[in-house]
Amino acid sequence: MSMDRRTALKRLLAGATVAATGPTVTSAREPAPPREDAVGMLYDATTCIGCKACVTACKNANGDRAEWGGVPGEQNLGALYDAPIDLSGRTRNIIKLAKESDRTSFVKRQCMHCLEPACASVCMMGAMQKRRWGVVTYDVSHCIGCRYCQVACQFNIPKFEWDSPTPTIVKCEMCYHRLVEGGIPACCEACPAEAVVFGRYEELLNEAKNRIESKPDRYEPHVYGETEGGGTQVLYLTAKGFDFEKLGLPDIGDEPVPELAETIQHGVYRGFIAPAALYAALGFVFMRHRRNTTESAEGEGATS
Ligand code: SF4
Ligand code: SF4
Ligand code: SF4
Repeated sequence: MSMDRRTALKRLLAGATVAATGPTVTSAREPAPPREDAVGMLYDATTCIGCKACVTACKNANGDRAEWGGVPGEQNLGALYDAPIDLSGRTRNIIKLAKESDRTSFVKRQCMHCLEPACASVCMMGAMQKRRWGVVTYDVSHCIGCRYCQVACQFNIPKFEWDSPTPTIVKCEMCYHRLVEGGIPACCEACPAEAVVFGRYEELLNEAKNRIESKPDRYEPHVYGETEGGGTQVLYLTAKGFDFEKLGLPDIGDEPVPELAETIQHGVYRGFIAPAALYAALGFVFMRHRRNTTESAEGEGATS
């Protein structure tokens, strides 16, 4: 889906107006409940064997390999194969090794699909959106590359393709393209240990609580994501005595972040229209550059 200049201008001016006038409500409020059709993923760190089958499946399912023509993407630490060490413009799902004293645990990181996503809240162009099933998706045709979403995300998830002439934001979209065809996320399908499973949000939350109740010596008595940041549709279990923070999952409290992000963002620009106008101008330059580069690349492809 593409956006014409008039629509883009309307959105940018709307953003400029909001930025200039500031928000009207800043008081704390209750987090929004999960929507009825919400789906999610449950990751159990006590079950994960660190095989990284989910990482490979994610790349294959999302075209993060094909565009390199089979060439390994992130040859870190001298590896001759694709060996990503963190989320990046080429990696939207990663398995890390966490340490706590003399213990270790694997941890899977990807977008949390927040119930109230800060990335979508701050995106003036609507490129980040919470859509069907509560999945937070990204539409490159609406993105002007401002990277507000990167700054706003409390989980440090969205990444930018710094090495591309036509950079986009990259993040897990819960394999939305597979969900609409009746499939499930590639990482959940590939996991041989069922350490990450897909399902309806409420059922996953009940499953997580049942595991804690039936094996209290195995698990920390908390489901990460049930309340953090207002709640997330990706839920985590960790081993007894192994803090979620040690897994790299931040202690962010229970308040939805969009309210805070909007307050800061709009407060900075309140009564100060110049940055918004500059933002709009830069947005047009960026979109025109990307279109020209893409058309140029397509033209070269057509003649080769
Ligand atoms: S984890 Fe970050 S990128 Fe994902 S939905 Fe939440 S705010 Fe957006
Ligand atoms: S849901 Fe899809 S995009 Fe997200 S981590 Fe799993 S395989 Fe990757
Ligand atoms: S495929 Fe499953 S067991 Fe293997 S690293 Fe990923 S989550 Fe862990």
